[in-house]
Amino acid sequence: MDISNQTTKALIVDDDQTCRALIKALLARWGYEAITCSNGVEALQILEQRDGPQLVILDWKMPEMDGIELSRKILESTTISFTYTIMLTSMKRKSAMAEAIEAGADDFLIKPFDPSELQVRLRAGKRIAELQKKLRFRATHDSLTGLWNHESITNCLYQEIVRAARESTLVGVLLADLDHFKQVNDTYGHLVGDQVLQQTAERMHSVVRPYDVVGRYGGEEFMIVLPMNKSSASDLSTVAERVRRGVGNIPVRTSAGEIPITASVGGVLTQLGEHTDVNSLIQQADAALYQAKRSGRDRVEIPHQGHGEFPHICVLT
Ligand code: GH3
Ligand code: MG
Ligand code: MG
Repeated sequence: MDISNQTTKALIVDDDQTCRALIKALLARWGYEAITCSNGVEALQILEQRDGPQLVILDWKMPEMDGIELSRKILESTTISFTYTIMLTSMKRKSAMAEAIEAGADDFLIKPFDPSELQVRLRAGKRIAELQKKLRFRATHDSLTGLWNHESITNCLYQEIVRAARESTLVGVLLADLDHFKQVNDTYGHLVGDQVLQQTAERMHSVVRPYDVVGRYGGEEFMIVLPMNKSSASDLSTVAERVRRGVGNIPVRTSAGEIPITASVGGVLTQLGEHTDVNSLIQQADAALYQAKRSGRDRVEIPHQGHGEFPHICVLT
């Protein structure tokens, strides 16, 4: 992840149009991608979006929702990722700064302001926001493969289950495990094993659909979370098969030469209108994976829907 080359997005929240235009022009000149809105309610909508602004310059007095309430909401939100907030206000009373920072603002500046002062404070804010972003990435991703880590992919599965229940859709989950991977380590060493894992991750990523999420569940085991609708339910086997072939089709190129690998895949799909528990879904996918291993490896196993447990199983090789 290289965030240094990305333009930093900054949001200007002010009900005074002249003020908005002035700050926007300054920010554009300093290399920021500036967007504007006129109150806290609109600001929250913008901040909730994916890849929302990392910096917010906000006015205190605004209709609908003022800067103090907005700061509080940003601070308390679990859905907005870290944003550095600078309260820019004509509020001059002595306690104003303490009040703003207490509410959640990270910095405070009084209007009329000195542009060069705003510029350096934005720079400091940008440093902190970028550091937060890096830390967040490290906390949620696997350092070897760059995929989502165990906690994040499990969380993602949970979120998708909740969303599917709300929207009457389905969720598929695949567990893919490299076959006889210990032999790769034993034969070529751990570092070569790592190269195999990295390329496996890349291959998996390249064969799933854009809205599927791939994570490293642990060791040489990967989890893929697949949002589905009723009509696309059969896609689970198709994607699972693409994953199996995508991983094992051609040998992996490593520093020790080309190494053939294969993967076994177990999958399960939620049932419409049924309460789904994350752990039981994972257990079912794990059982399917185990079955794939027992049946000879390098295969996909997905239990038939509505027929209970094994041996009602669909075998794809
Ligand atoms: P199976 O077909 O039954 O899955 O056999 P397997 O050898 O793949 O499974 P087993 O569980 O016996 O061994 C998994 C191996 O994966 C052992 C472990 O050292 C290796 N492994 C786990 N994490 C890593 C890692 O980050 N790097 C490397 N190089 N190896 C790892
Ligand atoms: Mg294995
Ligand atoms: Mg394993």
